[in-house]
Amino acid sequence: MLIIQNGYNCDYEMKLFYGLFFDKDEDISVYSNFEYKDKKINVYTEIICSGTAYFEDYYFPFDTDGKSERLIKKVFTAACTKSFCHAAREIKNINLPWGVMCGIRPAKNVRSLLEDGFNKEEAYKFLKDVYEVSDEKLELAFEVAENEKAVLSGIGKKSVGIYIGIPFCPTRCLYCSFVSTDMRVSGKYMDEFVDKLVLEIEKTAKIIKKMNSYIESIYIGGGTPTSLSAAQLTKIFDAVKNNFDLSRVKEYTLEAGRADTITREKLEAAKKGGVDRISINPQTMNDFTLKKVGRVHTSEMFKDCYKIAREVGFKVINTDLIAGLPGETPEMFKYSLDEVIKLKPENITVHSMCVKRAANLRMTDTRLTEAEQMNEMLSYTQRRMKEENMVPYYMYRQKNISGNLENVGYSKKDCMSAYNISIMEEKQTIIALGGGGSTKVVMGGRIERIFNFKNPDEYIRRFDEILKKKDEILEILKRGGEQVG
Ligand code: SF4
Repeated sequence: MLIIQNGYNCDYEMKLFYGLFFDKDEDISVYSNFEYKDKKINVYTEIICSGTAYFEDYYFPFDTDGKSERLIKKVFTAACTKSFCHAAREIKNINLPWGVMCGIRPAKNVRSLLEDGFNKEEAYKFLKDVYEVSDEKLELAFEVAENEKAVLSGIGKKSVGIYIGIPFCPTRCLYCSFVSTDMRVSGKYMDEFVDKLVLEIEKTAKIIKKMNSYIESIYIGGGTPTSLSAAQLTKIFDAVKNNFDLSRVKEYTLEAGRADTITREKLEAAKKGGVDRISINPQTMNDFTLKKVGRVHTSEMFKDCYKIAREVGFKVINTDLIAGLPGETPEMFKYSLDEVIKLKPENITVHSMCVKRAANLRMTDTRLTEAEQMNEMLSYTQRRMKEENMVPYYMYRQKNISGNLENVGYSKKDCMSAYNISIMEEKQTIIALGGGGSTKVVMGGRIERIFNFKNPDEYIRRFDEILKKKDEILEILKRGGEQVG
């Protein structure tokens, strides 16, 4: 891989798009020349692939007068990446529905344009002309931006969110990218982990008081929290109830996750503990795939758990699906989505499989097929969700998703999760407890992070440090000029 840029440098973005078209070991050289003259951008790109040259001479009229530096940078960068993609498409016909839009939060791009003084129509036209985003994706980005804005405006200024990480799972799914340990190995730490977590909850309650803050949301995630026994979970729920002031908590979520860990007893304990949202994640409704990716449950088990959750009284249930699981065709994904829709959950989150993780499984088809098929799955989701009156309310992209595609949370109108948005948008301080989470202290436009240990044995062994890390929150706030007790 060789990329040479003259006139304007956007190395990061060029490498990102290069990676969407080519592998690192392909015999490819890229030469790009940027020029801005007479209110016109001209980027000439030449890609040499195995001795053959492919060109793109790209012109774009653009007047920099009166434009913010941020906007000028965006347009110049987009011109370079677009010129590259046009030339690359001569070699590989890869469709990029998000065009050359970079960044993990497409809706943020929409919001920043609106903040730069564009009206909705101008912003739409800009994103289409400059980034070449498809109408379908633009519609998605604008809808998410609008829904996010409505939820973000309801987040209290002195509020915090609480994240409690439970880093245990019954087995490890082959595509897992989360902090989690296989409890067949780490199960011996569970009791002590829970005891320490209770102490961390007590300490955190004192810190929140000193911050003069209040809790708006609690999220227990992982891993799979329901890997713990009902008694262990009850200890956590009790500690939360007895130490935190829950009077202003708007949502309290338990990510139950895998059906092979869920029992009526655990769900009843959660309900009694005050949990009002729950996530039960089939990922796919095809049993063959579930087995292949190492999830020890069936689609029937998922349905049973879902039924119990309703019987126990949960009114907001989220279900996660993954588009592009190894070996799954668009038809298989559509079947999963339709099966889940029949259950009428309040939230459905659709993740796109990361190429890198799929590649680890050595089961992927070609990149081209995968990107196209993935997009077909996501387009179908967008269409079906609309039919079901579910709105997209948070969205993010990750590196290595085929075709630079997205993960989207859909919700019935009045059931959007503020926690999911605030963790994404970083507008609220989130205090992380347990294994693997990171505390984000938000002060104006600035964020400082404090990381908890990932593994349960380390969490237990170095617990004194965990408690000290909680004191660091106050120190950060003091340094930032905040009044703390
Ligand atoms: S259930 Fe989730 S966290 Fe646990 S191993 Fe599977 S993907 Fe990872």
